[in-house]
Amino acid sequence: MQNKPRITIATGDGIGPEIMAQTLRVLEAAGAAFEPEFIQVGEQVYRAGHASGIGPEAWESLQRTRVLLKAPITTPLGGGYKSLNVTLRKTLGLYANVRPCRSLYPAVATRHPGLDVVVIRENEEDLYAGIEHQQTPEVVQCLKLVSRPGCEKIVRYAFEYARRHGRKRVTCMTKDNIMKLTDGLFHRVFMEIGQEYPDIVQEHQIIDIGTARLADTPEFYDVVLTLNLYGDILSDVVAQLTGSVGLAGSANVGDHGALFEAIHGSAPDIAGRDIANPSGLLQAAVLMLVHLGQHEVAARVHNAWLCALEDGQHTADIYRAETSRAKVTTTGFADAVIARL
Ligand code: NAD
Repeated sequence: MQNKPRITIATGDGIGPEIMAQTLRVLEAAGAAFEPEFIQVGEQVYRAGHASGIGPEAWESLQRTRVLLKAPITTPLGGGYKSLNVTLRKTLGLYANVRPCRSLYPAVATRHPGLDVVVIRENEEDLYAGIEHQQTPEVVQCLKLVSRPGCEKIVRYAFEYARRHGRKRVTCMTKDNIMKLTDGLFHRVFMEIGQEYPDIVQEHQIIDIGTARLADTPEFYDVVLTLNLYGDILSDVVAQLTGSVGLAGSANVGDHGALFEAIHGSAPDIAGRDIANPSGLLQAAVLMLVHLGQHEVAARVHNAWLCALEDGQHTADIYRAETSRAKVTTTGFADAVIARL
């Protein structure tokens, strides 16, 4: 096939290589068209002395392709290391993090059959801007950075996303009763730009009660827009409410590049056993195919994935004796998806 787009692929740590191998099998069987460039990021690269978790050749690949499909990595704890995820998002200018979570009931057991929420989170600023200092031996400081241009970009993105996807309501969540300047700016920009979108219902909730309501009645929410740290936490909550953190994928989007990944981490507790759910990365790959303009292949993969789940082919994290037909391995689940393409 002519003009296959080049994409960069990072197989990651923990369960990363297992779920990436199965995701790529499904994509190949579905006829996805791309030239992969494999890079190493994460644990091994940290150990080789790159404090950012990514080496120069990997950067070159990213500069060339501007599209990364990434499996989760293990982030070393403590000083001296930067979070690779934060570095990638900031260096590539990936200002929007989009995490769609939808109930797959009755195929996948959940107490929230009507859940269909997209969490859109600001992705470069806030407490994840990476500005942390040791002030004195006993005092450390992390700066919460929020800028008007940053707020404008993400707020506009959220409203445009809502329009493009036929979504009716955007709920902005902040803690501006306490952080009046930083979260206050985010809220104010939300109200200002919201005036340009009268077709979309708009509301604001304080993040603590908003999270409590979201955990209790997620059916009430549509698009949830929030700052970086809150969005990171909130999207795990919403994904878990659908049945498992292993089900959701995400897109990190900027003006000049995009990164697609599962929302969960490298799950070292189950690594190497072929039992992880590859769905999150597969859903991220579907978002990537849409980004690449391969809509038909994206739909084929998504439908086959749904059919496999509806037919009760469930990995251990979502297996329930009452509703599942077979407890499948990571490989077995990919086989089930491929058989339904
Ligand atoms: P985690 O998301 O890796 O795991 C949390 C729990 O969910 C574990 O019990 C795990 O077994 C389960 N789980 C996660 N994904 C699953 C899947 N696909 N199928 C079945 N079960 C699954 O969170 P953690 O344990 O806090 O973090 C582990 C490592 O991952 C840490 O080093 C963390 O920094 C890193 N992390 C990386 C990313 C990323 O690369 N984008 C995101 C989050 C965490």
